[in-house]
Amino acid sequence: MEKREFRAESKRLLDLMVNSIYTHKEIFLRELISNSSDAIDKIYYKALTDENISFNKDDYYIKIVADKDNRTLTISDTGIGMSKEELEEHLGVIANSGSFAFKNENQIKDGYDIIGQFGVGFYSAFMVADKVTVISKTFGSEEAYKWESEGAEGYIIENTKKDIVGTDIILSIKENTEDEKYDEFLEEYRLRGIIKKYSDFIRYPIKLDITKS
Ligand code: ADP
Ligand code: MG
Repeated sequence: MEKREFRAESKRLLDLMVNSIYTHKEIFLRELISNSSDAIDKIYYKALTDENISFNKDDYYIKIVADKDNRTLTISDTGIGMSKEELEEHLGVIANSGSFAFKNENQIKDGYDIIGQFGVGFYSAFMVADKVTVISKTFGSEEAYKWESEGAEGYIIENTKKDIVGTDIILSIKENTEDEKYDEFLEEYRLRGIIKKYSDFIRYPIKLDITKS
């Protein structure tokens, strides 16, 4: 297990997210659900074009589990998953993100506009989480991998176990501060509201499960 560094431009975006004072932090959930939906689309498309794969609609869903005791919010999907190389390429390098055009320094300073206009994808998780863990098993592989980062300092990738193909994104939700409140992202009514507001059009079932403390 080794610590790897983010590319310079990823580092800057990550710092922006970690220290974000953006008022609509809730959009992180829209971004993660949209990634899960894209991942299920990919396996769905594969099934359509490969007669060896059967596609059973009930097997494809997004599940959100809030665990108040452990302060984690987990977004799981039964999508296509990511290989070790894909974890490295897709989560380590911001240039791979389709939703974010990294144009110039001025835009980077103006965090509000970036987040509001473009959406920042996966890294938006760092607005509400001080640690992000991704556990993924890609279609056609027996191996599963864990990617983990606590922000701009870097990330690790290591072998792990996972039963089914797909991805779990585990957010360690930040502690409340005097100015910023995060507890609400472990509350059922709040999560339901965010899902309804931004992700109502998602074609796959979104299951919400709260472990009360
Ligand atoms: P975008 O969705 O615009 O490409 P993101 O930053 O949201 O940018 O995600 C980066 C990439 O990481 C995605 O394009 C995808 O390849 C990969 N990815 C993120 N989340 C998942 C997931 N749940 N399942 C599979 N791949 C994912
Ligand atoms: Mg995305």
